[in-house]
Amino acid sequence: MVVDPHGMEPWITDWRERRRGKALCVVLPASTSEVAAVVALCAAQGQPVFPIGGNTGLCYGAVPESRKPDKPGIMLSLRRMNRIGAIDRVTGVATVEAGVVLADLHQAAAAAERQFPLQLGSEGSAQIGGLISTNAGGTGVVRYGPMRDLVAGLEIVLPDGRVLSDLAALRKDNTGYMLRHLFIGAEGTLGIITGAALRLHPQTRNTAHAWLSVASPDAALSLLSALQERAGSCIQAIELMSAAQLELVRRHARHARFPFAHIPAWSVLVELGSEHPGMALDDILVDVLGILMEAGEVTDAVVAASEQQAAAFWHIRHSISEANKSEGVGIVHDVAVRPSDVPAFIAQADECAARHFPESRSQVVCHLGDGNVHYILMFQRSFWSALNDQEAYALEIERAIHDVAVGLGGTFSAEHGIGRKLTTELSRLADPLRYELMAGVKRLFDPNELMNPGALLTQSA
Ligand SMILES: Cc1cc2nc3c(=O)[nH]c(=O)nc-3n(C[C@H](O)[C@H](O)[C@H](O)COP(=O)(O)OP(=O)(O)OC[C@H]3O[C@@H](n4cnc5c(N)ncnc54)[C@H](O)[C@@H]3O)c2cc1C
Repeated sequence: MVVDPHGMEPWITDWRERRRGKALCVVLPASTSEVAAVVALCAAQGQPVFPIGGNTGLCYGAVPESRKPDKPGIMLSLRRMNRIGAIDRVTGVATVEAGVVLADLHQAAAAAERQFPLQLGSEGSAQIGGLISTNAGGTGVVRYGPMRDLVAGLEIVLPDGRVLSDLAALRKDNTGYMLRHLFIGAEGTLGIITGAALRLHPQTRNTAHAWLSVASPDAALSLLSALQERAGSCIQAIELMSAAQLELVRRHARHARFPFAHIPAWSVLVELGSEHPGMALDDILVDVLGILMEAGEVTDAVVAASEQQAAAFWHIRHSISEANKSEGVGIVHDVAVRPSDVPAFIAQADECAARHFPESRSQVVCHLGDGNVHYILMFQRSFWSALNDQEAYALEIERAIHDVAVGLGGTFSAEHGIGRKLTTELSRLADPLRYELMAGVKRLFDPNELMNPGALLTQSA
């Protein structure tokens, strides 16, 4: 099945509608052997292949941009490869095709009384192949790890059309280099992921949720520390959000119901979860909150009284990306530092923004347990459209904020990847030896640079 140039508009533009690419067509194969045939044909013709999943990536990784005008390349979508195969409850593994949408896997796992614990706002569109290729994170990383920790095996079509199959999902297998790890986070630059064996976990039907107001990011760290002491392995999410961020959710997400009349300076959403029905998670939360309220670090708290109220808390959190998209031009940074350095990062980034980019308003949404801060500088559209060189200005902002994170020993890309957005930042900030070795890996798998050229690495030499 092929989409010709007339129907391609939604495919060639990124989720935020900021970047538009070009390709000959979109090819939608229905099986691994069809993917292999398409990729082999492209290899023979010297045509680039641009894999696309749900097109929810935030770094332009799926925008097709060939570097050779006479070889625009094709887009490859596995949308039709959406079968969920065997669910092995005892091993705790689901074997799926790479075009499966995350929400569908959630449902299938629940029907088998298990869970696939990757949780993010794009779950209705993001596909397993894209999630693996970006090593997606989300809100559950603090307990279950990122996608890398959930992948037990992969099937990959290599750039020459051969198929590398590793779907046995063995917990123990020490037979040399574990090649599948190279494809996790490779953003389609080494091959096409066609199938995956994914780790399932027991369901956590016993959960407790609270929405809190805290005095400062430092107070949020005290909360994290207290929860670690009392309920370490039960912390499923701890999300810190600034008032400026939640004001936008209130403005744009009509169905969001906030627990407090006023949005406090800092809010935290906490989720605890356990497989053990008898564990008194609400009591643990109430105890910890009581201690911190007495100390003045938590200033207000609502413990969810029902599943509906817990879902309403999550609705607020998951409305953030859409609200930001509706508001204006947000320059989004996806940095990570040690959790203990999060307050220092926010303070230094705010100072930097106030000094160098005074027209911006800073917003923070942070997966606190992972030290992953989405630091967003929001600009009014009128200001942005009056700029002479928007791209250069955005780059200047990104560099300044990335330098703050790297200065604290952190990283400039925590969970969104590099795509085409951060290639120059990768070459600027990566350890030169690491960069050289990554380029060598790219040359080994894809010597003719046909797999998603221009993403991740600017140069292969
Ligand atoms: C509302 C919203 C919320 C989000 N929240 C989070 C979050 O909390 N945490 C987080 O980590 N991310 C988040 N993201 C971004 C996240 O990166 C994507 O949601 C997801 O990981 C990408 O999956 P996709 O199927 O849309 O891939 P795409 O965007 O289509 O592609 C992403 C990359 O993978 C490559 N690719 C796609 N499929 C394949 C394949 N089969 N084989 C090889 N390469 C392939 C593409 O070429 C591209 O480089 C969010 C995005 C949105 C829009």
